[in-house]
Amino acid sequence: EKIRDAATEEGKVVFSFEFFPPKTEDGVDNLFERMDRMVAHGPAFCDITWGAGGSTADLTLEISNKMQNMICVETMMHLTCTNMPVEKIDHALDTIKSNGIQNVLALRGDPPHGQDKFVQIQGGFACALDLVQHIRAKYGDYFGITVAGYPEAHPDVILNGVATSEAYQSDLAYLKRKVDAGADLIVTQLFYDTDIFLKFVNDCRQIGITCPIVPGIMPINNYKGFLRMTGFCKTKIPSEVTAALEPIKDNDEAVKAYGIHLGTEMCKKILAHGIKTVHLYTLNMEKSALAILMNLGLIEESKISRPFPWRRPTNVFRV
Ligand code: FAD
Repeated sequence: EKIRDAATEEGKVVFSFEFFPPKTEDGVDNLFERMDRMVAHGPAFCDITWGAGGSTADLTLEISNKMQNMICVETMMHLTCTNMPVEKIDHALDTIKSNGIQNVLALRGDPPHGQDKFVQIQGGFACALDLVQHIRAKYGDYFGITVAGYPEAHPDVILNGVATSEAYQSDLAYLKRKVDAGADLIVTQLFYDTDIFLKFVNDCRQIGITCPIVPGIMPINNYKGFLRMTGFCKTKIPSEVTAALEPIKDNDEAVKAYGIHLGTEMCKKILAHGIKTVHLYTLNMEKSALAILMNLGLIEESKISRPFPWRRPTNVFRV
């Protein structure tokens, strides 16, 4: 099933979880256990990231396969153009297609480590738009294609903390080109100012982007991680968030509790504006994401986790 259909079901609020490929085998096992517990709560879909520079390609393919066929959740695999000649891109797409995965998040990716600017490799693509066009041209309607949207504009065009209005508008126009080329869902970059997200949705509608726009919510788990992430993404931190965090920044439990409170309030406001999906960047942790969903009344505390089907030995889904 394409996740776009799940995200647009009339009247129903749905949620989804993002995970990333762990570095160790134990980490992978733990992730599947956690995923299995989280999937028991009924997300519309789960997605798995593509490591920076293509570093996790094989593992991402393997994890996405198990998510779809053993954890049995509708799966979206991220795919970036960094260091990927078209043959490698097609290998990834052919693999997930043969495993029954119908959803891909088409991204340009960041420049490889140590490089400032994204440079197209020989035989590869220059931007996510190229990738969307390629997927539609080669695979027709088989895949649901999601693309990234940036409520504060892409960090490349944010200078000294702000994007000029021209840069913001040109970023939006480019997003529309990705949608016009065949993307059918937008997931946003993380943000902490809900008004910025709501304005972004409005601005997208103004220029004729009609597909669902799913807010990416990253619960604050610890102070240092929060600063690193918002610094990297050039995310605006509202003054009330800074004021709330400053006195508790050395108390991990208090920061986590505040993160759950803030995530809940953000989602409440977004849902009150008619958005029907919340996408949680879990960072492979379950507590904050589930607590937020519980606060929103979207899941029940008592839900018993299912047995772990992935434990069954199988060679069927090797990539
Ligand atoms: P693009 O959409 O191609 O472009 C990014 C920006 O560059 C545009 O917004 C625009 O400002 C400008 N631009 C590019 N091409 C053009 C053009 N032709 N004309 C005009 N402007 C242009 N990274 C990973 O490595 N792995 C992941 O799994 C991953 N998952 C992500 C998931 C989400 C939801 C988001 C928001 C980001 C994710 N990223 C991931 C990060 C992403 O790869 C980076 O933000 C990257 O710098 C841009 O990728 P993109 O697909 O947005 O690029």
